[in-house]
Amino acid sequence: MPYPFETTSPRQAELNLFKTKLPHITASIQELFRAMSVSYRSIEQKDIFGKYGGLRRDNGFETALNLMWVAMLNDQIIQTDADVLTFISKLRVLCLKWYQFGNSLDSCLFFGYFFYLFYNQSKFIVRDQIRDLKMLIDNDNTVTQDNAIQALLKPTHSTSWYQSELGIGDKLTSIFISNVDLVKVELPLPGYQITFQHSLQYDLRAPNFINREHIEVPFKKDGKVIISCPSCAQRCRGKLFTHLEMTCPKCSQTWVQTI
Ligand SMILES: [Zn+2]
Repeated sequence: MPYPFETTSPRQAELNLFKTKLPHITASIQELFRAMSVSYRSIEQKDIFGKYGGLRRDNGFETALNLMWVAMLNDQIIQTDADVLTFISKLRVLCLKWYQFGNSLDSCLFFGYFFYLFYNQSKFIVRDQIRDLKMLIDNDNTVTQDNAIQALLKPTHSTSWYQSELGIGDKLTSIFISNVDLVKVELPLPGYQITFQHSLQYDLRAPNFINREHIEVPFKKDGKVIISCPSCAQRCRGKLFTHLEMTCPKCSQTWVQTI
């Protein structure tokens, strides 16, 4: 079964843009992908008890990761005082883009393993790394206003999520996370952490965390359903089906979701 983010076509114009506008990242992401690919092969191997190797920290991965944060700050795609989740999210978008240019799937799978499955461990490693970087790098705490770069690295998901019986989906993309791949959290913010712990079908388009405020539970009554438009928040009424296709009467936005 292919991973949900896997289908892709190489885009030469985007690659040229990436290399020209993000020179530090272009240099660093190659080493990061090499280290992640080696790490993936090492975790695939089981020990004599049939257990996976766990987080491998001795093959240059953490050094490559550290250099990647430096490159991201130097190319000004993130502010020095951004939080851990934002750093990881920006890196995820970059890795997905780099993968779309024809680079290693194994590297993306290690990304999934490290940042989704072992999120609680990885966020502490990242937190320590970026805390040290703030002392060293002066990027004026600004991000690039270059429209082409902002379009290239645009978010891979919306903030309009719906809850269905089987899981949580994005109204504006095909991202859907099964209940078994989610962990409910209350602190520091109520919501769901995406771990892919059951399916291991990492979807690098998905965030690490979905805020509960961004998840709509559909209102169902007497064979009807009321759900809100992801574009203009208009409440839309329809017949209750397991699979819904809705068109907003106010702004004509169409979307699909399951109940
Ligand atoms: Zn609308």
